[in-house]
This record gives sequence, C-alpha cells and structure tokens, in this order.
Amino acid sequence: MAHSVAGRVVVVTGGSRGIGKGIARVFANAGAKVAILSRHRDEGAATAAALGHGAIAVAGDVTDEASLAAAFAEVARAFGGLDVLCSNAGIFPQAKIEEMSAADWDHVSNTNLKGTFLAVKTALPHLKRSDQPRIVLTSSITGPVTGYPGWTHYGATKAGQLGFMRTACIELAKYGITVNAVMPGNIRTEGLAELGPDYEAGMAASIPLGRIGEVEDIGHAALYFASKEAAYVTGQTIIVDGGQILPESLEALASA
Ligand code: NAP
Repeated sequence: MAHSVAGRVVVVTGGSRGIGKGIARVFANAGAKVAILSRHRDEGAATAAALGHGAIAVAGDVTDEASLAAAFAEVARAFGGLDVLCSNAGIFPQAKIEEMSAADWDHVSNTNLKGTFLAVKTALPHLKRSDQPRIVLTSSITGPVTGYPGWTHYGATKAGQLGFMRTACIELAKYGITVNAVMPGNIRTEGLAELGPDYEAGMAASIPLGRIGEVEDIGHAALYFASKEAAYVTGQTIIVDGGQILPESLEALASA
C-alpha cells in the first residue's frame, strides 16, 4: 500500500508540528513529495528539513483564502501538481460556555471549519488535474462522538467537518476525488502537551490500549485513505483512539 503514494504530491496543512508532522513523516517515508503548509514558514522549513525526502514548506493561513491559493500554486510549481490534500490544521483552546465570547467561538470555527472549506476549495483546481486525487480531513472523536467541558466550539467544528465531508464527497466524485476523515483520539502533540500532564495522565488511564496515541498512528490511517487501494472509499471515517470511546465507564476498564 505504501508504494501507491510514491511520487504523489501531498500538502499537509498544519504539518509543521503535532499530528500534521506525523502525517507528513509517514507520507515522506512512503516516497511522496510532501509540502508542509503552516503560518510560520520557518517552523515548517525546520520540520521539512528534518523529514528529508525533498519535503518543502510553504506559508499559508487556512483562514485566508488568498494565502492558501498562493501556497497551493507554489506547491504545484515546485512539484508539478497536487494529488493529496491533508486538511489537518486546527486549534483547540478551551472555554466553557459561560466564559466563552463570540470572538472565541469565531476563532475556533474560522480555523477548524471554515479553514477546512477554504483549503478544499483552493486546492480543488489542482486536485482536478490529478489522476489519483484525495482529500483527507483530520476531525476528532471530540464532537462527532464524545464531549469534553470547554470544547463546545471545538466539538462543533469537528462534527461540522464530517457534515462538510458527506456533501463534498458527492460533489467532487465527478472528478474522481475522494474525501475521507480520520478521527483521532488523544494523540501526543505539542498542542496536547499545552493542556498539562494531568490531562495526559487522566486520558491515558481511560484508554483501553493504555496509552496516548502517537502522531504516526494518524499518519498511517491518512496514508490508507490516500492510497491507490482506497480508490472506492469516499465519505468515510476511521476512529484511531486506542479504543477510548468504548468503555461505558472507568469501572468497565478496571474490571477487565
Ligand atoms: P498542534 O500540535 O497545535 O499543531 C497545529 C498545527 O496547525 C501547526 O502546524 C500550526 O502551525 C498549524 N496551524 C494552526 N493554525 C493555523 C492556521 N490558521 N493556518 C495554517 N496552519 C495553522 O495541533 P495537533 O494537536 O497536532 O492537532 C492537529 C489537528 O488534529 C487539529 O485539527 C486537531 O483538531 C486534530 N486533533 C488533535 C488531537 C490531539 O490529541 N492532539 C485529537 C483529535 C484531533 P502555525 O501555528 O505555524 O500555523
């Protein structure tokens, strides 16, 4: 399977760190031409250099349509096209409803949900020219399946991405473009580390496989959706969470 993305051009939004970096690494190791898109080009360039395999970095903000269009054009010039969009950039600041401002809501929504739409829209002219075009979204278990205090806005955007996907995959099928989503559980990233050690320890204790996930765990799922072998799979999701959503209670885990 890995070889079917060899030579393919892949853009990973939010690829400079965290899950995006893991996705970028898995694709680069599989022989893809990887471009990392993030707001801070220096950080993206450092990640690209660490990945090797000719990976490059482009500057882009998923809330800004013009910057995305310029970034995808730059990738297409550098690599001769675009085959796979991994729309992964996202933020997860916490605020409970009573303390949340409309600006807080808009900030998360603009990045995670509108950012997904804008990335897909601006990548589209390039993807339409590919003979193996793929879109892979990074959603979450939080929102579509589970809830966590402080993340009403975040959960709404992650569920919203799946609503977007289910119509996008119908609209874009005529171009042979598939649209699928990975739904990570808790994955060890720089962003997750900012939530503190207590959060990580509490989460690990609630996961049947007994650990927080690694970024490559998400990368391997994304690689499947991007593969030649997944050509007939569209509008689908895969949960990669170590079984986290399954126990009915902590007691259910303890009694195993
Ligand atoms: P992270 O470590 O904080 O990394 C976020 C990445 O997104 C960075 O590369 C950042 O680079 C980029 N980014 C942020 N805002 C951007 C913008 N407006 N335009 C372009 N790039 C932007 O986050 P993460 O934990 O890897 O999360 C990545 C994705 O996975 C998110 O969609 C998140 O919802 C999802 N997810 C994460 C977990 C988890 O446990 N970590 C679980 C479920 C789902 P710049 O700051 O330079 O732009």
